[in-house]
Amino acid sequence: MTAKEIRQAYLKFFESKQHHIVPSAPIVVKNDPTLMFTNAGMNQFKDLFLGEAPIKYPRVTDTQRCLRVSGKHNDLEEVGIDTYHHTMFEMLGNWSFGDYFKKEAIAWSWELLTEVYKIPKDKLYVSIFEGDEKEGLPRDTEAYELWKQFVPEEKIILGNKKDNFWEMGDTGPCGPCSEIHVDCRSEEERKAVSGKDLVNADHPQVIEIWNNVFMQFNRLKDGSLQPLPAQHVDTGMGFERLVRVLQEKSSNYDTDVFQPMIQFIAKHAGVVYGADEKTDIAMRVMADHIRAISFVIADGQLPSNNKAGYVIRRILRRAVRYAYTFLNLKEPFLNQLVPVLAEQFKGVFDELALQQDFVQKVVLEEEVSFLRTLATGIQRFENYTKKQGELLMSENAIELEKSFDDNWVYSILKDQMVISGEFAFELNDTYGFPIDLTELMAREQRWTVDMVEYNKALLMQKERSRAATAVDTGDWIMVNAELETDFVGYDDFEIETQIIKYRKV
Ligand code: ATP
Ligand code: MG
Ligand code: MG
Ligand code: MG
Repeated sequence: MTAKEIRQAYLKFFESKQHHIVPSAPIVVKNDPTLMFTNAGMNQFKDLFLGEAPIKYPRVTDTQRCLRVSGKHNDLEEVGIDTYHHTMFEMLGNWSFGDYFKKEAIAWSWELLTEVYKIPKDKLYVSIFEGDEKEGLPRDTEAYELWKQFVPEEKIILGNKKDNFWEMGDTGPCGPCSEIHVDCRSEEERKAVSGKDLVNADHPQVIEIWNNVFMQFNRLKDGSLQPLPAQHVDTGMGFERLVRVLQEKSSNYDTDVFQPMIQFIAKHAGVVYGADEKTDIAMRVMADHIRAISFVIADGQLPSNNKAGYVIRRILRRAVRYAYTFLNLKEPFLNQLVPVLAEQFKGVFDELALQQDFVQKVVLEEEVSFLRTLATGIQRFENYTKKQGELLMSENAIELEKSFDDNWVYSILKDQMVISGEFAFELNDTYGFPIDLTELMAREQRWTVDMVEYNKALLMQKERSRAATAVDTGDWIMVNAELETDFVGYDDFEIETQIIKYRKV
């Protein structure tokens, strides 16, 4: 099955179970002080779960574009390094608002995975909430009994509150969840492990694909639990992970979700994907990041120097640096991926194709501006670690003479291999290096950054500029603040007017 067919099969399956197909909400969240970006399918239904909005359809299904780069869910450091965490990803979901509950949700997820998608049953295992006596939370024996009809008991794993209990906050709706994992190890490897070893022990070929949340309690201010008058189901399945399983690949990036972009990058950079781990990671990062960048811009948030705008600028700069350093791409290139992506999402998320030219121009502008200072910043960074490294070697010469083994040298020097906060601040202030980029570059050479000192320098600068201007330091303001909820796209504007319009004076 192609990715498009897989997505369609999900929606059709739940439509056949009387679910109403709804569109994805934008990835940029407006008017919610607790959330900058949509990070789960359920976000757009928050008010329904809280009983604050009328329920139009008791059963709903969709594919939601999500972003997990800030706040409670931040997967950025994993992206490109592992093969199944993305910045932007699609979450397939089905919901029951006070309608069906565990029995149907569990039976349908099993039916879909094993009969429609035909995943071999012995590759699947599930987890249920084990309960938490201290917090007065009962074990989800109901889910356990339901799963027993489909899965052998040794493949029903007990999970703790962190992994298998969902709550919106300290009070409000909450409940146990049940995850479905796929073990993609070879049959031999699978047979060699049993019981506890089945648990997703960070094995790259054993991955969580689907989470079923059962909202059944309301937690009151005194901490006690009351049954909810209406029980809800909220599920989320990682689309790119599902595609990987069904296309029998060992990485999400080997599927037809990412390959068109990866091949486009490889061709342009004159490298072959799969030939070298470093260039592979760079291509994965670029293919991943351009999705996040493009959809955030298409959904109404320009790169800027604060809040959501800065999150997206950081991601963009991170991608540019990977391209520059590991693929030797010294000219703006990321923007050329926008049309490739837009083409791929036609008929799924048309928002991108509709604003393709504008999005591409914004990405190009950002690239041009960062590339102007990137080379000098990298050079400064290299000189710094080289000079400081030599200094440390000479200061520790006596200890180091005992052995010249790399590990020995590292064990002696590691606590001192710290980049000063002042220098990290200079990279940020003068060369536009977001601090997480500096940390990443440091980590690549096994250095760390003195964040305490960095934050001090940042604070001092803020105070200086506050005193100087008494206004916000950002040179952009958030588009959605301007356009509020009426934002319908950039089509009406020319980019030049946009930039003039939104650049602060
Ligand atoms: P993980 O433990 O792998 O980080 P999670 O438990 O944080 O996943 P959930 O919040 O349960 O994820 O989200 C539901 C589903 O969304 C997951 O089962 C997974 O398939 C998918 N998913 C979550 N985070 C990502 C991501 N960063 N990239 C791609 N898919 C993801
Ligand atoms: Mg996670
Ligand atoms: Mg998990
Ligand atoms: Mg989960």
